[in-house]
Amino acid sequence: AREEAEFKKRTPRSHEIHERGKASLPMGVSSSFQAVPPYPLFISRAEGSRIWDYDGNEYIDFHLGFGSLLVGHSHPVLMAALRDQLGKGSLYSLPCPDSVFLAEELVRRFAPIEQVRFCNSGTEATMDAIRLARAHTRRDKIVKIEGAYHGHHDNVLMSTKPSLEAAGPARHPNTVPASQGIPADVKNNTIIAPYNDAEALDQILSEHEGEVAAVITEAVLMNVGIMLPQEGYLQRVRDITRRHGVLLIFDEVKTGVTVAPGGITELYPVEPDLICLAKSIGGGMPIGAFGGREEIMRHINHQEVLHLGTFNGNPMSMRAGLVTLTEIFTPEAHAHANQLSAALAKSYEDLIASTGLPMHVAQIGAKGCAMFRHERARNYRAWLEVDMELSFAYWLFLANRGILFPPGLDDQWTISVQHSQADIEHHARVFHEFVAEIS
Ligand code: PLP
Repeated sequence: AREEAEFKKRTPRSHEIHERGKASLPMGVSSSFQAVPPYPLFISRAEGSRIWDYDGNEYIDFHLGFGSLLVGHSHPVLMAALRDQLGKGSLYSLPCPDSVFLAEELVRRFAPIEQVRFCNSGTEATMDAIRLARAHTRRDKIVKIEGAYHGHHDNVLMSTKPSLEAAGPARHPNTVPASQGIPADVKNNTIIAPYNDAEALDQILSEHEGEVAAVITEAVLMNVGIMLPQEGYLQRVRDITRRHGVLLIFDEVKTGVTVAPGGITELYPVEPDLICLAKSIGGGMPIGAFGGREEIMRHINHQEVLHLGTFNGNPMSMRAGLVTLTEIFTPEAHAHANQLSAALAKSYEDLIASTGLPMHVAQIGAKGCAMFRHERARNYRAWLEVDMELSFAYWLFLANRGILFPPGLDDQWTISVQHSQADIEHHARVFHEFVAEIS
């Protein structure tokens, strides 16, 4: 309560504009995720590793647009490129050369991609990949993992964070739409499976033999902190999906270039059929992409699958992605962000170990998180035991001391190529203060 009072004292203008916004914007925001209690911070500018709210408070930004900004804010190299592009026009709705160069860079970086198509968000990427998988297999159903988030289109807006009562049996979960307005027949085509349970997946695919087009999953779940795959799980998912003639889609919207320059399959060498990208590949501009082997992408080549969009491959996003990937994300820049992320994780781990706090830390590349639960959760049901009240108190504690974290702490920190050792040390110091406070 004290932290909440302090937060309100520091941010009256955010409160005021939010109240005003509620009249013209439902919940006062443009994405319902942004409407967090007590009210969202409104932002007026950002630069480097810093972000400033409407009241002028400065934060070190570990939210970074839900991890879209591995590049950090307003990177000077990117700004120069975007100013140049803006002078040449921001939208043609005709192809530009940068789209070819960026496609080539993604093919070079991501082992599973032979061909790629651009869209404008992670939601579009998973929507388009699922359509392609359905066309390729001539099947309608998909399997989605409980607790995972793949964007807000009807097919996948199911069982993202279902209540325990609604979720049903742990090894054969119910499909729980996360929103009203999703048709029953769409719901019936999405089957839910638990994470880290290859046998349960095998059984589900056997029950629906010949009906399932694709299993869509993140290799590492990032809608519930960071949930790592158990030894051998991903390879077994690969083997099982192959045996059932089902495509495997890895949603790399969050992991993408952020956990490793070539994505998650650099760390877990399992071969998906399709991958979805967005967020960090665009340097902060709206972007999405999906790609895979030519044998699957050819349905677009043959015009059997339509993939369209006025803003697809637009010159601003293409230039942003190209400059970010080829000029900013050098091997040294990736190593810098990874090393800071590992150092932050270590400082959390050391204090947790020495105090015996019921917490754990997971870190992978530039992303990491500390969860208020003693052990790592292996699936969504176990993750529900995280102490969300304490997580929220910690979020406020951080914000009041100049650290911006994604709201709710069920997300991750992201560390950009522009963060410094001093940024990490400040973050670690605030965690120490928090521990002293609650001990
Ligand atoms: N897939 C994953 C794994 C995500 O984390 C997100 C968004 O957070 C999406 C898809 C949807 O991306 P977007 O918000 O760009 O539509």
